[in-house]
Amino acid sequence: VLILAIETSCDETSVAVVKNGSEVLSNIISSQIETHRAFGGVVPEVASRKHVEVITLVIEEALATAGVTPDQLSAVAVTQGPGLVGALLVGVVAAKSLALAWGKPLIGTHHIAGHIYANRLVAELQYPCMTLVVSGGHTELVHMEREGEFRIIGRTRDDAVGEAYDKVARALGFPYPGGPHVDRLAREATEVVPLPRVWLEPDSYDFSFSGLKSAVLNVVNQSKMKGLTPDVAGIARGFQESVVEVLVEKAIRAVKATSSKQLLLCGGVAANAGLRSALISRCEAEGIELIIPPPVYCTDNAAMIGAAAYVKWQHDGGTPLDMVADPGFSLEQWSVSAY
Ligand code: ATP
Ligand code: MG
Ligand code: FE
Repeated sequence: VLILAIETSCDETSVAVVKNGSEVLSNIISSQIETHRAFGGVVPEVASRKHVEVITLVIEEALATAGVTPDQLSAVAVTQGPGLVGALLVGVVAAKSLALAWGKPLIGTHHIAGHIYANRLVAELQYPCMTLVVSGGHTELVHMEREGEFRIIGRTRDDAVGEAYDKVARALGFPYPGGPHVDRLAREATEVVPLPRVWLEPDSYDFSFSGLKSAVLNVVNQSKMKGLTPDVAGIARGFQESVVEVLVEKAIRAVKATSSKQLLLCGGVAANAGLRSALISRCEAEGIELIIPPPVYCTDNAAMIGAAAYVKWQHDGGTPLDMVADPGFSLEQWSVSAY
């Protein structure tokens, strides 16, 4: 099964050709980060316009790199949501047009299912499994009892982890996206500025990061008021330790409570060195199999959409051509229905 997959939910225009949902024949990513940096974050209208400019080229390059012609494809997959509506529309319109012109089925795909199934590109998944989703817009613990069946057992009540990283980085004086800067500073730090951990109710798998973010802002402002230079590295280290401790504890507890066979990590924050090393050593100690995709499959890419689309396709087949881009697309409802 050869799937051409298109991803335009945010600020990456990406097209991939994926075989059987696991073998990546091409994965072209055109990033708009440089364009948005000047604004300190992604500007939705600018994102849509950039997608329109490059989408055809990226599609052609994905086919050429894979050495595949349209007639060899089994289906065209596209991110249907969630994401920025204008950005999603560009991919959805392109995918529908191609599906119609080439006479191929369309597979509307959930963006977070894509992030989760990025793990299928690097390992054989065993169910039941637990996924810790840590991206720019999501922080979730997702349980899969069976293939393609998603149940969100925990989610953030305010900021997503990536968002908190970006806001903290901005307060410390670093450009968008700030996650990698905070990660590097945390590694270089010699002191740790103590910051609170937010656990919520004892049995909850939910997360909250806005209080921690405010605590960081307070520390920064207090030093400035005293005419001191804030210890940015120490703050970054304290912030990261707080975030990582809570994420790791809740993920491990979730794995145990659901007797999951594997723990999967996904989303842009999966690139975080502190989170990776803490999860690796903790999972080793607990005897839990941990899967982490390489960074290129952690941030937005179309290969992961091809992987998730394959799973959906195997169970439910294609999506009607009159489907629409859905900025609030529900992961649980996208679960496969035919078993
Ligand atoms: P969503 O999938 O929820 O819509 P997104 O796709 O925009 O969000 P990703 O591309 O998965 O988000 O991740 C981007 C986020 O990852 C940014 O917030 C960025 O700061 C963060 N990030 C990237 N590298 C690191 C790192 N090393 N440490 C911490 N955060 C990081
Ligand atoms: Mg992005
Ligand atoms: Fe994403």
